[in-house]
Amino acid sequence: MPEVSTALRAEVRSRARLRCEYCLVPEGLTLVPHEIDHIIAAKHGGGSGTDNLALSCTLCNRHKGTDLASIDPETGGLERLFNPRSERWHEHFELSGGKILARTSIGRVTVRLLQLNRLERIAERKAEQNPNLWQRLSRAAAVLKQAGNLDYMELSIAAKAYFVLTRLNGRATLEDVAGMLPKFGWSVSKEQLAKATEFLAKASLVTQT
Ligand SMILES: [Zn+2]
Repeated sequence: MPEVSTALRAEVRSRARLRCEYCLVPEGLTLVPHEIDHIIAAKHGGGSGTDNLALSCTLCNRHKGTDLASIDPETGGLERLFNPRSERWHEHFELSGGKILARTSIGRVTVRLLQLNRLERIAERKAEQNPNLWQRLSRAAAVLKQAGNLDYMELSIAAKAYFVLTRLNGRATLEDVAGMLPKFGWSVSKEQLAKATEFLAKASLVTQT
């Protein structure tokens, strides 16, 4: 990836008002900082000027990678991805609850390729409507990041488990934690939770009972 200067980075961030330009999640409500996306990747001839840069959350950026297009699930035709510089978000998408609905072929390929409606992302978008909760989760994530190298989803799940466990004074079974998570609108599988609590115990952040 070509280097993006600090000044350019700041310009892209403020232009996007710190929101992901694909899924609209504000940076303040995610657990890790947003990234600078090259809309057309360098390997396809895209430049590093502001007209080719967008602010993207970690998840959208990871799923998009260097792709430019995908197959429309409805027509079977090749379609390019949404370009936040040359198009308006609302032309191609609309928000319904925590879900992002596609209005066009471009919307459909983008929703699918960037996995905008994976269940855990819908649950996160709903939970994000409670900024107070997310501030506390972000604080939990900051502690976890010092303790180990987790990817975004693992970090998110571990932060949720940590948050619930601290509310239960650390004395809880996996079932207790699993039972509390849906109260905050979070859906986490037993396996994901087991992995998260194992990490927390290994990092001495909780004592498993
Ligand atoms: Zn996003």
